[in-house]
Amino acid sequence: MSTLVTGIGELVTNDPSMGEGRLGAVPDAALVVSDDEVAWVGPAGTAPDADTRVDLGGRAVLPGFVDSHTHLVFAGDRSAEFEARMSGAAYDGGGIALTVAATRQATDDELRTHLRRLVGEMRAQGTTTVEVKSGYGLSVEQEARSLRLAREVTAETTFLGAHVVPPEYVGRTSEYVELVTGPMLAACAPYARWVDVFCEPASPHAFDGEASRAVLEAGRDAGLALRVHANQLSAGPGVALAVELGAASADHCTHLTAADVEALAGAATVATLLPGVEFSTRSPYPDARRLLDAGVTVALATDCNPGSCFTSSMAFCLALAVRDMRMTPAEALWAATAGGAAALRRGDVGRLAVGARADLVVLDAPSYRHLAHRPGVPLARVLDPPAPPSR
Ligand SMILES: [Zn+2]
Repeated sequence: MSTLVTGIGELVTNDPSMGEGRLGAVPDAALVVSDDEVAWVGPAGTAPDADTRVDLGGRAVLPGFVDSHTHLVFAGDRSAEFEARMSGAAYDGGGIALTVAATRQATDDELRTHLRRLVGEMRAQGTTTVEVKSGYGLSVEQEARSLRLAREVTAETTFLGAHVVPPEYVGRTSEYVELVTGPMLAACAPYARWVDVFCEPASPHAFDGEASRAVLEAGRDAGLALRVHANQLSAGPGVALAVELGAASADHCTHLTAADVEALAGAATVATLLPGVEFSTRSPYPDARRLLDAGVTVALATDCNPGSCFTSSMAFCLALAVRDMRMTPAEALWAATAGGAAALRRGDVGRLAVGARADLVVLDAPSYRHLAHRPGVPLARVLDPPAPPSR
């Protein structure tokens, strides 16, 4: 069955050949959806017929947000830690141990219910593709369980056994890395597309360059593609390692050297910025302008997690990127859609061109600019396909 979506005041395609600028924006547009794919895009006046028709009354339509960095499999509540941080306590990643303890005690159904609620919350705000990491189990069985549950909601699952060193391995990091790269990886690889590591020599809880390399190389040898938590708290070796090993994405990129920026500019590795973290930890933002001006491909994601940033809203992160990181509204929207797709190496999402997945988001506004212009207002919703006509 095909559906003609018409009355689109402004259509963002992310296909420069279709319209204005990098967003390929088309005014007064229409689009035909057939079998969950975009079948036709163009000016409303030249639209073909379809089985059913939806008129959006001049609203803007964009590709669904691609949230390429989240930690949604967890239990427990860390709002008290947030409160303490807002009163001046520092963030160093140590609170993750609290989530690990709560997650280990939770039943499958408790984790599943919570995970599905968060994914639903994201979809209600316009996110149609989400990556989900493990990393709060930190044992062979618990990490495999987290990924098995994540696989129920997304194909973009990431093994993050090297999130932090769990309490029972404190002082024995190299033994823990052997566990992660050995039996844990073997148990998790069947449920994961990606492997990730929290590369941060400045944190006593995370992993240095050598350990991070061991985790990434083992994951790659097990058939997983690579992404890295890099340069969040200090200008460490994460970005250089991500580029050297051909990772799809280096995430955070808050503290970069000139060599890091140069390496990213010459590589296929996307710099994924997570401004919700800096907002929620009251830390300096990454220098998005420096990256963009150097020609680096930039993505935006939420990093939705129970500690350092518990927002599920891509629109909120986009508003932060515009207001506090000086990205233009167009750059921020591209980064939150096509940029996220690049960070996941996906060609079927993050754009609305013929053949792409029909992940349409409707704004209760005439232009995408309203996303950052009206922060905190729930403008975005996913356009679900109309039910087939009753017989
Ligand atoms: Zn993260």
